[in-house]
Order: sequence, then structure tokens, then C-alpha cells
Amino acid sequence: MTPRERQQYKKMLEAARGQAAAAAPAKIEPNRTDAASVGVADEDAQALSEMMQTLASQKNRRQGEHLGQIARALEKLAKTPDDYGLCEECEEDIALERLKLMPWVALCTECQGKKDPARNQRRTKITDYK
Ligand SMILES: [Zn+2]
Repeated sequence: MTPRERQQYKKMLEAARGQAAAAAPAKIEPNRTDAASVGVADEDAQALSEMMQTLASQKNRRQGEHLGQIARALEKLAKTPDDYGLCEECEEDIALERLKLMPWVALCTECQGKKDPARNQRRTKITDYK
């Protein structure tokens, strides 16, 4: 990777960091009064509120993880630029298409899949709520 390319990834990371930091943490509205909740029994409203709180806290946690990933990638670019773009597990080049979409990733697709099967399971459960 050339210094010019690294500079481009650095700009992408800084833009992503700005976006992620600007996104307000998910807000929870415990007492909804809009039409959608009128007539809903208290128990149902309570269950809905708890589910929304769970989803909101998951979203906030993912946002925190995301900012951490971006900060790590920027630090790597600054301190060990030769390592940027290499998978931290197998040290192969991370696919450029992957890096362009997610310049903060530290692992190639294969290693990510091996390392984190639990995360994929959690995602499946979140879609079950819909
Ligand atoms: Zn790898």
C-alpha cells in the first residue's frame, strides 16, 4: 500500500469517526403516547418498552465498539503504517473491497468468521424480534 493510499484510508476513517461520534445514542421513550400505543394493555406496553430498551442498549454498545475499531485503525496507520491493511490473525492482505467498505477492520473475512461465531448468532436473534 502506498503512502498516498494510506492517506485516503485515513481520511475515510476520520470521516467515519465523525459520523459515528455525531450519531446520538439511541434514546428510549418509556411512555409513548402516540397513536400506535393507544389502547395497548399495560403489560404489552411494558413488554414493548423492555424490548426497545434491550435493542437500544445493543445499538449503543455496537456504536462504542465501532468507535473503538476506528480509533485502533487510525492509531495503526500513525504508528505502524506497514501493518495497516494486513489481517492481524493470518497477516495476509485484507481484500481491498472489504477495506474500502470498512477501513477499520483488523481481520480478513475468513479470520473474522472463525473468530466470532457468537456475534453471528446474536445477529440472528435480533432479526427474530422483527
Ligand atoms: Zn486473516
